[in-house]
Amino acid sequence: DTTHFGYEDVRTEDKVNRVADVFHSVAGKYDLMNDLMSGGVHRLWKRITIEQSGVRTGNTILDIAGGTGDLTMRFSRLVGPSGKVVLADINDSMLKVGRDKLLDKGVTGNVEFVQANAECLPFPDNTFDVITIAFGLRNVTDKDAALRSMARVLKPGGKLMVLEFSKTDNPLLTKAYDFYSFNILPQMGSMIAGDADSYRYLAESIRMHPDQETLKSMMQDAGLTNCKFQNMTGGIVALHTGIKP
Ligand code: SAM
Repeated sequence: DTTHFGYEDVRTEDKVNRVADVFHSVAGKYDLMNDLMSGGVHRLWKRITIEQSGVRTGNTILDIAGGTGDLTMRFSRLVGPSGKVVLADINDSMLKVGRDKLLDKGVTGNVEFVQANAECLPFPDNTFDVITIAFGLRNVTDKDAALRSMARVLKPGGKLMVLEFSKTDNPLLTKAYDFYSFNILPQMGSMIAGDADSYRYLAESIRMHPDQETLKSMMQDAGLTNCKFQNMTGGIVALHTGIKP
């Protein structure tokens, strides 16, 4: 297979290394680029995720692929001192930026930082009330394994929330968005972060990610029930949720 850019479709080990390189490279500028690239709208997508999480005082939360900790920060306030939030990420550069940011903002006490791969989470079965993976699943090589692993560590009745880029259903919006992703975004990456390739990879990974219905079936196959999704910004992003029976 070749991708939109004619790259060879990346195989398992290549993808793992590629993703690691991308996030080591962008970690320092990640928050700035997120704001610029989305025009700040990623904050709204994240706020909706938090509002729909139903997280309460005392809950135990996993924010996997948590990166620089935007969701963790908000969850930490919601669960309070009797709760716990685990910010986990495979990439130590992203984790370090996240840890420093949260410390700066005084978010301490109920947050733990763990380096972990979503495909094989190092937690006991039935641990978490809510698990979030925001803009992370598309970077994971074996998405089915990751969904099974997340389902395993959820408590019965617990909720998985996947916030991810998805497929727009309006052809005009799709055209504009493709132009933006494959032309403007790498240029911004080059100007601001000195790294066009990483941003080209990000655009490419969005294009390759399963669409709304496919991801919903994958969540069902991982053993979750009540699986549904909500499109945001015309389907540029979708929030999928599922419950562990
Ligand atoms: N959740 C944060 C947010 O919404 O701003 C960060 C998202 S960032 C685009 C994607 C993150 O996924 C990176 O920090 C990357 O290191 C992490 N990641 C990629 N593959 C992973 C894996 N297999 N397991 C855990 N984290 C992974």
